[in-house]
Formats: sequence, structure tokens, C-alpha cells
Amino acid sequence: PAALVWFRDDLRLDDQPALQAALAQEYAPIPVYVHAPEEEGDWAPGAASDAWRRRSLQALDAALRARGSHLTCVRGPTLAALQRLASATGAEAIFWTRRYEPAIERRDTELKRALRRAGLHTESHNGALLVEPWDVATKAGDPYKVFTPFFKAAIARMRTPRTWDAPAHLPPVAFDDAAAHAIDAPAIDALLPAPKHAWNRTFWSHWTPGEQGARDALRAFVPKVAAYPEGRDLPAMEGTSCLSPHLHFGEVSIARVYATIAQSDAPKDARIAFLRQLFWREFAHHLLHHFPRTTDHNLDPRFDDFDWARVDDAQLDAWKTGRTGIPIVDAGMRQLWHTGWMHNRVRMLVASLLTKHLRMHWLHGARWFHDTLVDADLANNTLGWQWVAGTGADAAPYFRIFNPTLQAKRFDPDGAYVRTWVPELGTPDYPPPIIDLATAREAALAAYARR
Ligand code: FAD
Repeated sequence: PAALVWFRDDLRLDDQPALQAALAQEYAPIPVYVHAPEEEGDWAPGAASDAWRRRSLQALDAALRARGSHLTCVRGPTLAALQRLASATGAEAIFWTRRYEPAIERRDTELKRALRRAGLHTESHNGALLVEPWDVATKAGDPYKVFTPFFKAAIARMRTPRTWDAPAHLPPVAFDDAAAHAIDAPAIDALLPAPKHAWNRTFWSHWTPGEQGARDALRAFVPKVAAYPEGRDLPAMEGTSCLSPHLHFGEVSIARVYATIAQSDAPKDARIAFLRQLFWREFAHHLLHHFPRTTDHNLDPRFDDFDWARVDDAQLDAWKTGRTGIPIVDAGMRQLWHTGWMHNRVRMLVASLLTKHLRMHWLHGARWFHDTLVDADLANNTLGWQWVAGTGADAAPYFRIFNPTLQAKRFDPDGAYVRTWVPELGTPDYPPPIIDLATAREAALAAYARR
């Protein structure tokens, strides 16, 4: 019998548990993708995510075709689309890997129930995390809110990741392109058209969406692991893995990343430094699952009455476009615009400037990141913003305010990163600072004291 394998944020064939489960139960898999951004609540994928997904779906389709199969893409609503696909193909089952965004968890729960009522066998699998969010709890049975104890509990709970290779061949999809046409399965290009303004054309000299690009990025990172503990904080060095968009779209499995680095011959402390970082991603998903309101609300309710400054559109715009006159911040915001990615250290600095010196609510920054990052990820982005703003789990206390000038001296000592992105620094073309850092810091601390 046939089964739909419903691809979501798991756009790969290697170590793909939904596909493996269908094959293991001797179903003939029919790979499908349903485009339904309106089902993602207030956090539908942004422009950079759409640009990436379009290419990633094309790569997945090519990989499937190389194995004798292909990807059928349809538009939502998802439930109706899956039912239509199942009846057109005679599929008896639907397999997928889990997602943890609140709107998606709700939708998937309802959808599973409805599909089962309709007589379809459904199975969801963990293909995105090392440990499921509900498998780790404090002694009292509560979710964790502090990273280190979460990390210890999660690593203890984790089973050695098991990985499966991609199947070499797949059965042809009984459902051919003509039948796809009949049920209105548009080409990927029609579903996710290329962005009109080609703002993203600079992205693709930095990135290759899809499974092959992910595998290449992982392979390229292995020799860099030894230098990761020092290199990860130096934005000019490119010392991090740049796996974040590949992980977000599931183009490489987290188990594969974990196993590759754990088995590499880098020194143990370097391997651990990197693997520990993967658990920040786990922690972010744990928090998102247990505290779904935090996508839009402070995790720490003491901040609900915080005196955020009135949004100054000109300042917000200067921040978004990298024209604040604060070089390391502008460098980061321009790296984001041109590549769809920003170094973690610099993410912390730009977020700190927005939420502390400019005292704007972290959601203004989170929304901009969500739209412009190729690795935009509701779990990681929410954690990152709430952590920097001081409103979230294990947060840096609000009163600890990064000084971007000192941070730049420390982490970009010869200015190489800033010069790459702000070449006009020191010329009349570069704007003066939009705020006085010292005064803004005092104002932020005063607002904090009034809280
Ligand atoms: P590496 O250092 O090579 O780390 C490997 C992987 O571990 C990353 O790909 C990522 O999946 C995970 N990871 C590393 N650091 C973190 C972290 N602090 N939190 C969660 N996961 C982590 N990451 C996103 O993937 N999507 C986001 O939308 C996002 N928004 C952020 C917003 C702010 C304000 C901040 C401070 C951080 C944000 N991060 C986000 C976390 C982090 O900056 C990126 O994961 C990292 O820079 C990606 O680069 P890399 O793959 O080279 O990281």
C-alpha cells in the first residue's frame, strides 16, 4: 500500500524518521509538501525563510527524482490537502516528523485526530531534537527554566543517537505529474515564487540550501571544531558551523550533527563546547513547548509593566538598516541584510542595543529577525531575544548592559569584521551615533529600577 510522507521542516532523505518508518512498514512512500503559511499563527515564515525554503524544496525534489520518486507540492488548508492527496493516491497512512511551534502543535493535534477519524493510519516521529521537550523535567515534574540543569538532565536522558542512511532507491510515485496537475499541485516555483526585488541575490554566494549544502557545511566544520571554543566569539573568524538554517529546515538531522562532531578527533573540550551549544537549541524547544505564550509575552512576568520607551520609527529604522552610527551594531545588521545570517556574539550586541540603550520592546527586534534571518526559528529566536532583553529563561540580568564599544574592542580587536560590513567608517558618509551610549545606559537602568 501507499503512504504519504509529509515533509515539513525535515527537508532531507538522510536520517529521515518519517520516511524510514514508512519504508520499514513496507509502504510505498509518496513524498508531499503542503504550503499553508496561514496556519502558523502570528509567526508565518518570513521573506528570508521563504527564499530558502523554495530552494530547499527544489533540492529535495531533485534528490527524490534521482532515486526514482518525486515531491508533490500542494496548497493548504493542510487537512483538506492531505485528505485529497490520500484519496487521489489510495494512500492508507501518513507519516511526518514533529514540529514544536505552538500554532503547529495545536494544528497537528487536531489534524491527527481528524485523519484517524477518516480511517487513515497516522504516525509522527521525532526528527528534529535530541530529546523531546516532554522527556525532561525537574524533580518536581516541572519544565526547566535554567540552562545548566536542563543541559545535565537532557544529556543524561538522551539515548545515543541512531542514524539511518538515505535510501538508495525509492519506488516510483504511482501518482504522476499529470495526476498532480489534476489535483492542482503547482510547481515549486509557482508555490513559492522567487522574491520580486532580488534583495536576496547576495545570499546564495554564502549558502547552498538543501541536503547537499548541509552535508558540505557539516564536513567543512569538522576541522574547525578544535578552534571553536575561542573562535566562536570572534565574528571575523567564521569559527562557527553556520549550520543553523540547515538545522532549522531539517536538511541535516541533529543526530547526524551530534554523532559527526562527537566522533571527530577534535580535543574533548572543543567537542563538548560545540555539543553544549546544540543543547541551547534543545532548551529553546523545551521552553517553547512548555511556555507557548513566550513567543509574544515575557517569560518573566515582572517585565509586563516595564517602561519600554515609545517606539521611535527613525531609530528603529536606523537599527534595521545598519545606520545607528555604532559600528559593531551596524556591521551586524548589514551582515544580516546581505547574508540572511548574523554571528551570535553580534546578535547579542544588536539585541542589547535595541532593548536596553534604545529601550524598545524585544518583539520589534524578534519580528525583524524573523523576517530577515535564513535561520529564523521561533524557538531559538524567542529564547535569544528574551535572554538578551532580560525577560526570559536564564536571562542575562537586565542591569547587565553590553557596552558595544568595549565588546567590539574585545571580540573584533583589529576591526576586521566592522570594516567588512561598514567600509565607509571614518568617512563623512558614516552617520554619527543615534544615541549617547552612557546616557542611554543610565536611562535604561532608571527604567529598570522603576519596574
Ligand atoms: P554554532 O555556534 O555553530 O552552533 C551550532 C548550532 O547550535 C546552531 O546552528 C544552532 O542550531 C544551535 N545554537 C547555537 N547557539 C544557540 C543559541 N544561543 N540558542 C539556540 N541555539 C543555538 N538561532 C537560530 O537558529 N534561529 C534564530 O532565529 C535565532 N535567533 C537569535 C536571536 C538572538 C537575539 C540571539 C542572541 C541568538 C539567536 N539565535 C538563533 C542563536 C544563535 O545566534 C544562532 O543559532 C547561531 O548564531 C547560528 O550560527 P551557527 O550555526 O554557526 O552556530
